[in-house]
Amino acid sequence: MRLVVDWDGTVTVRDSLVQVIHEFGDASLLRELEPRVGVDLTLHEEIALEFAAITAPLDEVVAWVVEHVEVRPGLRELAELEPLVISAGFHELIEPVLARKGVELEVLANRLDATPDGWVVRFRDEAACATCGEPCKRASVAGEPYAYVGDGYSDRCAALAAERVFARDGLARHLDGLGVDYEPFGDLIDVAAALG
Ligand SMILES: [Mg+2]
Ligand SMILES: [Zn+2]
Repeated sequence: MRLVVDWDGTVTVRDSLVQVIHEFGDASLLRELEPRVGVDLTLHEEIALEFAAITAPLDEVVAWVVEHVEVRPGLRELAELEPLVISAGFHELIEPVLARKGVELEVLANRLDATPDGWVVRFRDEAACATCGEPCKRASVAGEPYAYVGDGYSDRCAALAAERVFARDGLARHLDGLGVDYEPFGDLIDVAAALG
């Protein structure tokens, strides 16, 4: 079975997008916009607005990310299962962290145009999902059975279509609320051991 994993808060210990917004952007936007996602904003709209407030050069942010973004134990063990990483974040901020770890994985994510007037997000897929009504990860992983590993809002819809779900944090609470079964995980060693 295919293995699909989220990046932020799943592979990484903390959400690196949130970390970057705190360090280089406007953290008040997080407090203001996050509660509106799924109400009057899509996740893409939230991300676009938060990153438009960042004007730092990309290489400066990448250097910070490579130094500060922490990966959960077990990435190498997980990599042996050849997972697809699917992220609402950015290739530009994911791949340098993988490279630092000496791990190469297939990544599906968005891209950035880091202009000095504010970063512009180039979304990989803007099509609204027929199930949840906003652009989401489900369509990109549809087709063959998969196990899904995630932690947050961006994982909800794709997790519900998975054969097997590993969840923590907000995703786990969401699935609890729906009465949907999942396997809790602490780090990536847990996930690799359960699937290996
Ligand atoms: Mg996440
Ligand atoms: Zn969806």
